[in-house]
Amino acid sequence: MGTLRILSGMRPTGKLHLGHYTGALENWVEQQNQVTEEGARVYETCFLIADYHNLTTSLDTRDIFSHTLDMLVDWLAAGIDPEKSPLFRQSQIKEHAELFLIFSMLITSSRLERNPTLKEQVRDLNMESLTYGHLGYPVLQAADILLYKGNVVPVGEDQLPHVEITREIARRFNNLYPHPHIGDVFPEPAPKITKFSRLVGLDGKAKMSKSLGNTILLADGPEEVLKKMRNAVTDTEKIRKNDPGHPEVCTVFSYHEKFANPDQLAQIEEDCRAGSLGCVDCKRICSANISGELAPLLERRRYYEANMDLVKSILLDGEAKAEVIAGHTMQEVRAAMKLGEKRW
Ligand code: SF4
Repeated sequence: MGTLRILSGMRPTGKLHLGHYTGALENWVEQQNQVTEEGARVYETCFLIADYHNLTTSLDTRDIFSHTLDMLVDWLAAGIDPEKSPLFRQSQIKEHAELFLIFSMLITSSRLERNPTLKEQVRDLNMESLTYGHLGYPVLQAADILLYKGNVVPVGEDQLPHVEITREIARRFNNLYPHPHIGDVFPEPAPKITKFSRLVGLDGKAKMSKSLGNTILLADGPEEVLKKMRNAVTDTEKIRKNDPGHPEVCTVFSYHEKFANPDQLAQIEEDCRAGSLGCVDCKRICSANISGELAPLLERRRYYEANMDLVKSILLDGEAKAEVIAGHTMQEVRAAMKLGEKRW
């Protein structure tokens, strides 16, 4: 078996936060750089800026380009290497829309209405009605993945139903339209659950989300991190410094679990339970650890911000590479479906 290909993406919502980092970016970088003992890459990685997907929940496109660039800078700052991983906008590769149209014929609307992720989103966003495009969101996602023949999809658990829809569509297409030379046009991609798929927000109530105002941004410097951390929700029963605490219900402790080293983590837990560590000091430790993790990202961010022409040329270069792969897949799709036959 050859190198596995991973297609992952994010909507261009501007500067990214720690939840994006722990839930996706960190894993992307690891997958991008993973090599076999012989030094060959384990995965080919492609990263998509899902600008069409943005339209499912917002029709306001005024800031889409600046948000795209902000996100791209965060990707690059986190260690995404454009030489290894093409970075591209969905809207600039026309084949996404073409394959989406074909796939839309291979799945029923009732199947899409049963999608639990969609039901959850409608509830969370208090949506009264759904557009046709929003209902078809997982179909567009299937087109995104299969256009590049992704065999592995890194996801949080909430995205698993979408991967299942992608697999169903791939199977259905392959059964209906075997290619005369290669047989199956599409692989059935396997989900790969990420280790830290969700990071709780500073308010402790939900996942980190800019719309909820409970985030630490990757672009935040140490002072900003500390300032935000001061408002983080802790164990509400630990009122005075010497009260024994319960780390298992504390937002800050959930960050320690990610950013403290194992010895430090054990000590914090012990001291919190014993009442020998106060929340103010504990938050200071947590902020320092987070800022330490973000320091190299901030430095690289500054470099890219000072070289925005480079960032734009990275994007155009990634789009040229993606176009070649997407164009090739669509030729196979058309040949399998006998669309555009030249003999008559
Ligand atoms: S001491 Fe730390 S872990 Fe314990 S409740 Fe306070 S902030 Fe949370």
